[in-house]
Amino acid sequence: MHEHDHLSTTSNTAANRQKLQADCEKCFGLCCVALPFAASADFAMDKAAGQRCPSLQSDFRCGVHDSLRQRGMRGCTVYDCFGAGQKVSQDTFAGSDWQQSPGSAKQMFEILPIMRQLHEMLWYLNEALTYRSALPIQVELGNALAETQRLTNLDSNAIMKLDIPAHRAVVNALLQRTSELVRGDAVPSPKHSRVRRKPIGPGADLMGAKLQGADLRGVNLRGAYLIAADLRDADLGTADLIGADLRDADISGAKLSESIFLTQMQLNAAKGNARTKLPPFLTYPSHWAATNI
Ligand code: SF4
Repeated sequence: MHEHDHLSTTSNTAANRQKLQADCEKCFGLCCVALPFAASADFAMDKAAGQRCPSLQSDFRCGVHDSLRQRGMRGCTVYDCFGAGQKVSQDTFAGSDWQQSPGSAKQMFEILPIMRQLHEMLWYLNEALTYRSALPIQVELGNALAETQRLTNLDSNAIMKLDIPAHRAVVNALLQRTSELVRGDAVPSPKHSRVRRKPIGPGADLMGAKLQGADLRGVNLRGAYLIAADLRDADLGTADLIGADLRDADISGAKLSESIFLTQMQLNAAKGNARTKLPPFLTYPSHWAATNI
């Protein structure tokens, strides 16, 4: 795929993807209550789902926002809701927050992870619709996008009853087809088809793999474990990175501008720098600024 593989008439898609970016100002701190976390390298303590984090203030702001990493709360700087927080807060519950309406709190917290999954699917579908190579399945992609959008606009009781795995299976099949179409022209370099006898491909165990400067264009890395992999200056153009675990992977100087299905959360979990080339709609995590270039 080349830059011109992106369709030029994507203003709708651009606007749609804008809405899928977290806007914490419009959210009632839902992720800081709804989601559980366990004491680990990412969180300094245990917290159950539905339990309010002690650092969440009554104005729904984080009281330790500027020092999350120093306080062992790295997981908070990685998490991304794909805009589900503001959607649940402002649309599903029409701007009524869980402090003022404690009766809806439980349902609000349960809906957040469901909405997040729907918004994640919207993110990928909107991206799929930008690819010229995916034109043969554009109608199916458009229908799946419209149906997913419809589901996000249901009332709270209907959202609770959704069969998310079934809907995800339909979307997933289309995303896999998109990936095949977009990667179609790319020829993976045989030199990097294996690392230490481990094949590079979907779901591959590439934890700590030494892939500095590797040519990974067009490789299907769907769901691959790239934890702490050395991907410095690697070319990941047209590589499918959907669901790949990039925690602590070093992507300094890596070329990701043409990578397929990369998310902000994956970037937030990785280590990069100003030389890392990102796709449109993704931003440089603020904690990368401290990294040497
Ligand atoms: S530490 Fe801050 S960002 Fe993390 S869960 Fe608590 S209130 Fe939310």
